[in-house]
Amino acid sequence: MLCSFHSSLRLHPLKTHKPLTIICSSQPKPPPPPKKRAAADGRRPSPRFGKKHGASRRSVLKKTFKQEQVSFTTPISDDPIVGIIGGGMAGLACALFLEKRGVRSTVFDTGIHGLGGRLGTRVVDPQPLIFDHAAQFFTASDPQFVGLVQGWLKQGLVQEWQGAVGELEVGGNFVPLPSSSPRYIGVNGMRPVADSLLSQARMINVERPCWISKLEPFNGMWHLSENGKPYGKFDAIVIAHNGKCANRLLASSGLPLVYGQMKRLELSSIWALLAAFEDPLQMPFEGAFVKGVDSISWMANNTTKLQGSQSKGPHCWTFLSTAAYGKRNKVPQENIPTATAEKVKAGMLSGVEDALGLPKGSLQSPFYTRIQLWGAALPTNTPGVPCIFDPLGRAGICGDWLLGSNVESAALSGIALANHIADYFQSSGDRPEEFAVGLRNEFQNHKGHDIGQFPGMESETQTATEQAYELTT
Ligand SMILES: Cc1cc2nc3c(=O)[nH]c(=O)nc-3n(C[C@H](O)[C@H](O)[C@H](O)COP(=O)(O)OP(=O)(O)OC[C@H]3O[C@@H](n4cnc5c(N)ncnc54)[C@H](O)[C@@H]3O)c2cc1C
Repeated sequence: MLCSFHSSLRLHPLKTHKPLTIICSSQPKPPPPPKKRAAADGRRPSPRFGKKHGASRRSVLKKTFKQEQVSFTTPISDDPIVGIIGGGMAGLACALFLEKRGVRSTVFDTGIHGLGGRLGTRVVDPQPLIFDHAAQFFTASDPQFVGLVQGWLKQGLVQEWQGAVGELEVGGNFVPLPSSSPRYIGVNGMRPVADSLLSQARMINVERPCWISKLEPFNGMWHLSENGKPYGKFDAIVIAHNGKCANRLLASSGLPLVYGQMKRLELSSIWALLAAFEDPLQMPFEGAFVKGVDSISWMANNTTKLQGSQSKGPHCWTFLSTAAYGKRNKVPQENIPTATAEKVKAGMLSGVEDALGLPKGSLQSPFYTRIQLWGAALPTNTPGVPCIFDPLGRAGICGDWLLGSNVESAALSGIALANHIADYFQSSGDRPEEFAVGLRNEFQNHKGHDIGQFPGMESETQTATEQAYELTT
């Protein structure tokens, strides 16, 4: 269940950590003891770097869990700036709500074609063919998110999806889901929504494409860089992405508790098959959650979804696999072997026939296909807190996984962290113990469709066990 919250949120019991601590301030430091190499950021070198011989993966992991805690003691500047690493819905919402509170930020994102992360839309020229290839639609249940979506509706960024959406049983039995809870889609697909969110922003800078590969605390600020290229210094940082990339980034950052929570996150893998057909497939629906088929969990007609049922020209379908099929056929997503791609494509097209109750081999051949693996697709467990914040290290995490597995959770998490950081800045950083959030929470598995949670629809699920929060405004 999603919880609503206002300008700040405190989680009880509040505990600060007591690991080894590196003080990071602008005060001059005593020179390092002789014969010990000082790290570039002024920190004491980790014993791991003193070892002459390589260590097994297991022992390296153990040691990285024991990384030293950064502790900033410098006063917060009058005009602080936050570095947000990740320009998906969570990072963008965080930047927007920091701006509302008068705090500047820079959003870093790897996206080559645009912002948005898993709000992904692929456009294939010259026709063009348009496919939403991750998030398909979203629902809004929390009043704060509902308010945000109303604004996007007014700006013409999103619209209600009026087409039939339901459940498709193996064999072709389609049952529409009630449309009591509105379903939203981007007017031109999901990615343009993300790309437009910051268009009015005055205090947000965007760096894209940019892959932040290092975080270094130095002289009271976080220094961010991409393979040695500096990208500025920040009073606080936000990790708005997850998966292996975040684990690598945090492994030697000086944020052991933040890293520890990130490492507990588990993610599913989902294959996406994009397919364009010359002729309509003549389905009684535009989107369907598929039941009882091993290789397919969802299928949607992007053409009718985005252009209406009268649209002419080829029909662009997105087929998404089940998480079980994704796990069984997992390969490195950046380097999919051709044989695997062919096997998965055949397996998914065959699954489409099973779902629709069509004889084998009778499905019209698509004239365009593209296969993609979302290796870190959806979170399967959660600490059930809106955000994580380490006040000593002046670093936080936001993302869908903290509250659930959908676009709404990502936005709410970003908003929560923005308000929390703004409150922390207002406190001048004097009482860090009051601002620790989510650093030790246990994780619970959460349920949902393989492609997320959709409150208000039949298969609505709840996130982890409710947590005890104290809400303050
Ligand atoms: C196949 C699939 C289908 C889905 N369908 C739905 C759906 O229908 N409805 C729904 O509500 N939700 C759906 N979801 C879930 C939804 O897409 C996510 O919950 C939401 O978009 C997550 O947003 P986020 O900001 O937390 O993370 P992300 O969108 O993953 O954003 C993280 C961003 O950080 C960037 N990044 C990573 N590392 C770095 C770095 N080192 N430096 C700079 N940038 C970096 C990434 O490139 C990415 O852009 C689906 C997800 C998938 C995979």
